[in-house]
Amino acid sequence: MAEYMSEVLTNPAAGYYVRRDHVFGARGDFTTSPEISQMFGEMIGIWCMAMWAQMGRPSAARLVELGPGRGTLMADLVRGTSSFHEFSNAMSICLVEISPSLRRTQWETLGCVGTWSEQTTEGQTPSGMRISWHRSLEEVDAGACAGPALYVAHEFLDALPVHQFERGRDRAWCERLVDEAGPESPHHVRLVLSPGATPAVRAVLPLRTDGLPQHLRASMTAIEVSPQSMAVAEGLAQRVGMLGGAALIIDYGRDGPYRDSLVGIRDHGLVGVFDMPGTADLSARVDFDALRLAVGRAGAGAVMHGPISQAQLLLGLGMEVRLQRLLEEATPEEGEALIAGYERLVGGAESREDSMGDEGGTRREKKARNGGSVAKDRICEGMGLSYKAVCICPEGLEPVAFSMSSATEQPDIVDV
Ligand code: SAH
Repeated sequence: MAEYMSEVLTNPAAGYYVRRDHVFGARGDFTTSPEISQMFGEMIGIWCMAMWAQMGRPSAARLVELGPGRGTLMADLVRGTSSFHEFSNAMSICLVEISPSLRRTQWETLGCVGTWSEQTTEGQTPSGMRISWHRSLEEVDAGACAGPALYVAHEFLDALPVHQFERGRDRAWCERLVDEAGPESPHHVRLVLSPGATPAVRAVLPLRTDGLPQHLRASMTAIEVSPQSMAVAEGLAQRVGMLGGAALIIDYGRDGPYRDSLVGIRDHGLVGVFDMPGTADLSARVDFDALRLAVGRAGAGAVMHGPISQAQLLLGLGMEVRLQRLLEEATPEEGEALIAGYERLVGGAESREDSMGDEGGTRREKKARNGGSVAKDRICEGMGLSYKAVCICPEGLEPVAFSMSSATEQPDIVDV
């Protein structure tokens, strides 16, 4: 399954993210938080400035975004922090993006000066901030002088490949694999269970299950594991632990594993995972407990805070105050849009549908997987609670908005 997901999303010729540049927004397949309101990127900017202050205001630091999409979050962050010259002069921006068409969109969204070509790996904002593009975190390390960095990954980990494991006969672990289907199948591919243990059963499964309590390990019959997400968390912990800085990861998921959360998303609705590969996004929910495990394994003195809800993060960063300020200067129509965006980002109508050990996915998702239809534009409902944030930083730093309550408490603000 992991190979299938990786091919469908990032194959250099036909991958979903590589081939299609209009996957986000009202006319795309799904709408992400930065596309909903400018306040999202602005709040992340406040978080970055606060962390930079805690880091002792280094005069040269990197601001690294993983999977920047259209570049909207970074553009709002840059604009929102532009009057804090000490911060913006200190930062150079590194964007980790594999898709050439999205790199181009990011260049345009950030208003880079000059002309873009497929070979472009560097640019500059009109205010003079340097931007560089990279394919991986390792490439970021190679391209810049080592030093502290702030990392932001919004809806990045859910796009990384997952392995799915299931107990077969005799309760032995097998892997769910994607196989060619006969000509009668509408999808040409089908899901099969490996006849015995695959290399991933031996090498990937224990990476995750070793961190689970014994009773759960014994009772579970299926689990999804994203070794790449765990490697990203471990890599971030090593970097901020050794060189200073902090990482903010925001995605939808929970503080525990899923059995099977992978879905296809097209045209604001849910589609089958094998439905026209390359034309729909594939997305798996994030198991934040697996990230915590990976951070612990990094052994670099970094810790993971959270998960907290997106609502708690944004309100803890002062989004309500920002809304009031924007409303003072807004036309009635603009005001309505601002309030609608605010409510969407911090609202939580569809709350905690899942708990540890539970079958992954909402009722709607299960219905979609079973071939039912899903109302358009409904999958982002309840973003304030279903989206969660974690911070990976050196022990001793106190990430803003993370200190006030524990991960399981939901704030009292969802009825705004
Ligand atoms: N953060 C953005 C976009 C999320 S979609 C937003 O919230 O709007 C996922 C992004 O990650 C896309 O930009 C996609 O091209 C990129 N991406 C996916 N897999 C990647 C990989 N393996 N390496 C680098 N970028 C990747």
